[in-house]
Amino acid sequence: MKVPKPLLIDLPFSEWKLEGLPSYRIAQVRDWIFAKGVLDFEDMSNLPLSLRTKLKDEYHLTPMDLAKEQGSFDTTQKFLWKLRDGQLIESVLIRATEGTQGVRATRLTLCVSTQVGCGLGCKFCASGLDGLKRNLSTGEILGQIILARTKAGKRIDNLVFMGMGEPLANLSALIPALDQILSPQGLGIGARHITLSTSGLVPKILELAKYPAQIRLAISLHGGDDETRRKIMPINDRYSINELFAACQTFIKQRKKMITLEYILIEGINDDLKQAELLAKHAIKLNAKVNLIPYNRVDGLDWKRPSITQIEAFHKRVSQLKAPRVTLRMEKGHDIEAACGQLRLRENTASSQGVKITDLP
Ligand code: SAH
Ligand code: SF4
Repeated sequence: MKVPKPLLIDLPFSEWKLEGLPSYRIAQVRDWIFAKGVLDFEDMSNLPLSLRTKLKDEYHLTPMDLAKEQGSFDTTQKFLWKLRDGQLIESVLIRATEGTQGVRATRLTLCVSTQVGCGLGCKFCASGLDGLKRNLSTGEILGQIILARTKAGKRIDNLVFMGMGEPLANLSALIPALDQILSPQGLGIGARHITLSTSGLVPKILELAKYPAQIRLAISLHGGDDETRRKIMPINDRYSINELFAACQTFIKQRKKMITLEYILIEGINDDLKQAELLAKHAIKLNAKVNLIPYNRVDGLDWKRPSITQIEAFHKRVSQLKAPRVTLRMEKGHDIEAACGQLRLRENTASSQGVKITDLP
């Protein structure tokens, strides 16, 4: 059987030997891929034709194809990608206009996936419903950013690793991807514009604390005490809130950067004001920002977002208690199932029921 060609962008840059090419040639290839988003050796016009053919014979460049695209009226776009083995993953592109009247700029944030599915089984989450299929490779993480940037036609300002999967469960692929993302010769996105979100893999938080770049950390808390959190997040049985916060303290000490506590509001589960008080107490102790996110409904699950009145009361209580910085994020793209894993869930359900998925050109 023919061995598939390796995906060039799967390799850490230090391993790009490209058959002993001189370093300026390797830099040219890197520039085509990361600065210009060119994923076909034939289009690399400053390389000799024979070299383009040779590289094409040896390496594959495109990690995925666009399987489906959805846009919403508030200009959030969602991409469903088909990987080389047919698995589906998704990325969400969020546009936000910032600045004061005279100078307003639209900033692009891409929400990136790190795994196909997720093994951590949070009860409210579409990504975890079928368990973990596999980790994404370095090139599949990078490919989402390169291709989304081409679709957007402009540079991506911020990355949030809040798509499908648990980023810290796939650090071995993620770290070389981060190296390329951060490098000025790679994607050139600054560490302060990159946020990793974790449901709380304590040993991996400690490992990440040693990574030299100043990337940001967000913790999916979703419950103010162990009893509430473990109802919806099985990982809490492995690492309690106390253990999680001890790891966060280590991370914060090494970084001198605020972390964020994310808190999804789910009706009747974690939205009572006692939880708001616990959340505020934790945020003050960790000097952490708080991000409140009303739950996005998932097909087939019974969880609901609370009423606006309850959401506002919860928000008010956390703020009144003087948690350092509290934001309430009304999800953009609620109308296109922007919460992680939902589009894939729909497509997989449709295909398992024999419904034809119409691919976009
Ligand atoms: N696995 C990581 C990152 C991916 S999930 C983590 O759990 O942090 C990114 C965020 O989306 C998490 O805070 C997660 O709890 C949240 N999320 C998952 N499903 C959601 C839903 N249906 N509505 C709102 N937020 C959701
Ligand atoms: Fe996995 Fe995060 Fe979803 Fe939990 S919320 S199942 S950790 S992707």
